[in-house]
Amino acid sequence: MDQLMRGAPPWMPPDDTVSAVAAGEHWDAVVTPQQAGLAALSLLDADTTPPGPVLWDTRHEARLYFLVPVGSAGELAAAGFRVLGARSFIAVPGATSVGPPGPHWLVPPDPDQPGRLVDATALHQALRRAAGAFWAEYRPPQAAPRNILITGAQRLGQACVLCGIVTDQLIPAGHVYTPTGQAPLGWAVVACPAHASEVTR
Ligand SMILES: [Zn+2]
Repeated sequence: MDQLMRGAPPWMPPDDTVSAVAAGEHWDAVVTPQQAGLAALSLLDADTTPPGPVLWDTRHEARLYFLVPVGSAGELAAAGFRVLGARSFIAVPGATSVGPPGPHWLVPPDPDQPGRLVDATALHQALRRAAGAFWAEYRPPQAAPRNILITGAQRLGQACVLCGIVTDQLIPAGHVYTPTGQAPLGWAVVACPAHASEVTR
């Protein structure tokens, strides 16, 4: 069958090797500081599965590299994010490198969709949301508690606690707890209809 339909993308180095791969051919790379990148990735993860290939390089200043379609990161560049395109190279490891040391895949390319890349618009949105977000413990009515990244609007019950969408159909969906000096402080939160069915019965 068609070799390009499934497997490693054509630019992927062999397993257990790292190669300098040219940006601007198959993808551009959006570079973020580690903390902002991890926060944005957790928001992307909640919205789309999988978000597309993301590299983590902890060798010097720890950074994440989100691989986006060539030419799609203009808005991110205009907003001050570093975007590597034509005439830039980045260190890319083989598909099996998923841990340090050295550059490794935080989200490897999906073998079922080797051409899939991170959506630059969704990434920009996630980076903006992450900039004003903080971690809180979420206790849904009918699901296990977990730590999530939320914005002020989500904490105040003005946006879906899981996806951040604002609609006129937001439904009560439990509480989030933010750490304070003595005891955690609870905030009543809401969910959009799609997410409410996940956390309530
Ligand atoms: Zn939602």
